[in-house]
Amino acid sequence: MEDKIIDRISYVYKKVSHAAMRVDRDPASIKVVGVTKRVVAEKISEAIDAGMRIFGENYIQEARDKIDNITGFMSDSDISWHLLGHLQKNKAKTAVNCFDLIHTLDSPSLAEELNKHAEKSSKVQRLLIQVNVSGEESKHGTTEEDLYCIIDKVRKLANLKLEGLMAIPMFFNNPEMVRPSFRRLRELRDKAEERYGTELPELSMGMSGDYEVAVEEGATLVRVGTAIFGTRAQ
Ligand SMILES: *Cc1c(COP(=O)(O)O)cnc(C)c1O
Repeated sequence: MEDKIIDRISYVYKKVSHAAMRVDRDPASIKVVGVTKRVVAEKISEAIDAGMRIFGENYIQEARDKIDNITGFMSDSDISWHLLGHLQKNKAKTAVNCFDLIHTLDSPSLAEELNKHAEKSSKVQRLLIQVNVSGEESKHGTTEEDLYCIIDKVRKLANLKLEGLMAIPMFFNNPEMVRPSFRRLRELRDKAEERYGTELPELSMGMSGDYEVAVEEGATLVRVGTAIFGTRAQ
């Protein structure tokens, strides 16, 4: 692995472009989210200097501190923060304050809570619904059966904007083993688009070990941590 963050970022973008071209997709339609949980501020600054503009965090408190430190003082910051971790209802207010895109909506009641705070802040909160495509009990995310209930709810709430779906499939050393889960998420998205006659352009799927396969299956947001920032501190 290259040792400079700027080199790792170019490497990831190169791999994303190649994967996109293999399946006739426009590489520009895919965004890399730099996953910065437990990554120190200096490394995040290095990534910003290298041109990275979207960062993903998992924990509300850690994210709030970082956002204050890193972009809070830039009044015209074009840096975008995404929430990738599970969101509890009692943290909905902070989440609305901190994140441009929340990837982990997984219940109608959380949608209501987010809408309430978005309304108070005169914000339209952009969202993805997390789907548990592998059906693992330990994983967050909605079941496929409950997906439509959440979409029905979100469509009634004026301060929420649903942009697509997200999944964290079961981990395999061989990324080809994850391909059916990525494909499943895309199919669910296609079905939902047809059912509601609406566009759900974003598919958040793929991490350091399998983002190329995810791009081949339609990912528009790949979430890459280790491959850019190295192994995380525990
Ligand atoms: C940690 C995390 C990632 C990044 O994982 P890497 O394997 O380090 O790239 C992506 N998505 C989510 C939801 C995560 O929690």
